[in-house]
Amino acid sequence: MEFPSLKKYNLQDMPYMCAQCSFCQVGNGACPTYKVKRRDSFSGKGKMIIARSLAQGSLKASDGLEGLRDAIFGCTLCGGCEEICQVDIPFVQVYQLMRSDFLKMGLWPEQLEMTKKTLLDSQNIQGQSQMDRVEGWSYWHPDEDTLLDTMGQEAKTAFFFGCASSFRGVSIQATIATTLIMDKASESYTFLGEDEVCCGAPMIMTGDFETARQFAEHNIEKYKELGVERVITNCPGCYKMWAHEYHTFLDIDPPFEILYGPEYFEELIDNNRLEFNNPLDITVTFHDGCDAGRNAGFYEQPRKVLEHLPGVTFEELPHNKSNCFCCGSGGVLRAIDADFANQISKLKVEDIEQTSASVVAASCPSCVDFMQDQLPQAGSSKTVKDLAVLVAQALGLEWDGLDEIYE
Ligand code: SF4
Ligand code: SF4
Repeated sequence: MEFPSLKKYNLQDMPYMCAQCSFCQVGNGACPTYKVKRRDSFSGKGKMIIARSLAQGSLKASDGLEGLRDAIFGCTLCGGCEEICQVDIPFVQVYQLMRSDFLKMGLWPEQLEMTKKTLLDSQNIQGQSQMDRVEGWSYWHPDEDTLLDTMGQEAKTAFFFGCASSFRGVSIQATIATTLIMDKASESYTFLGEDEVCCGAPMIMTGDFETARQFAEHNIEKYKELGVERVITNCPGCYKMWAHEYHTFLDIDPPFEILYGPEYFEELIDNNRLEFNNPLDITVTFHDGCDAGRNAGFYEQPRKVLEHLPGVTFEELPHNKSNCFCCGSGGVLRAIDADFANQISKLKVEDIEQTSASVVAASCPSCVDFMQDQLPQAGSSKTVKDLAVLVAQALGLEWDGLDEIYE
């Protein structure tokens, strides 16, 4: 998938390209925020009208813009409008620039000031001690000593954990699984541990590009010191930053090859580096997280990996691939308006409940964490697992954390 470069567009013209056809409000799988709010400003169409006023300079901070701000930041950046609109507008990137305009006008949501403070104080979005990036869960790892010895070593391949995958219990399982898979494949790799800082995604997604810059530069410098040539990450939000958004919004081109987890697992399978010996005997459906699917085009890689896992019967969600429903956690919406994110997740749960799958797989720590939280609340008995966890289990790998989390 070719990621659109903002330089290709004359951004001043963007809002005028919208034909006001309203298709982004009615099309299959389209805007989750419009589906919940039923107000123009929460759809692509409405945001293009706001963008037009911003471009004309006719919106001023004194105009009482709070309602419009709620719409600009009440968006999961899911890319649904970009997928469905017949006009070639890089909606998600335009929204991020609009958020930056609102920041400059002093109209950033209050919650984001707290998010920024958390990031600056603790270097991670969870507000936890950096020590806990590894030591918070390494006791779950079956070979803790080797894991800790790997940290900070020189290597050509680096595993970038990301904040959610370092600190959130269910998402940590994918991190443990991936280190075990890499060991099984005899991969020589490194990771930064407490020296890894947030990739900056929460700030880039909300328009504070300069705060994001210091985070991006820190991680890039650390990898250069270790001789890293390629970076693997399970988080599609982090992937998008490293592979595309540093270039687009910060004018930084990290000098590494960037791989998304399912891409890496596919590579290992293609090179016969994994031997699956443990049939899982489950029916699995797959959630295409927005940053992995619509926003980056990784539809086939996770499905190919699932195809190779013994004992897996695969069933698509009713809305899948480019029509996949957003889980509600994208665009920093959980931090801005958790109730709104929860309302969006109900549509996702309804879609999942239409399958006979017992396990919902995804390759995004935020989606896994949010769906694992929302499904039981909606009365669902389905389990959510990261693809990395299923790969590790099909390799016969075991660790204590998995039993604790899923018992
Ligand atoms: S589908 Fe595209 S052109 Fe039509 S109203 Fe929505 S943003 Fe505008
Ligand atoms: S990015 Fe998603 S949530 Fe935001 S306006 Fe487009 S379809 Fe709606």
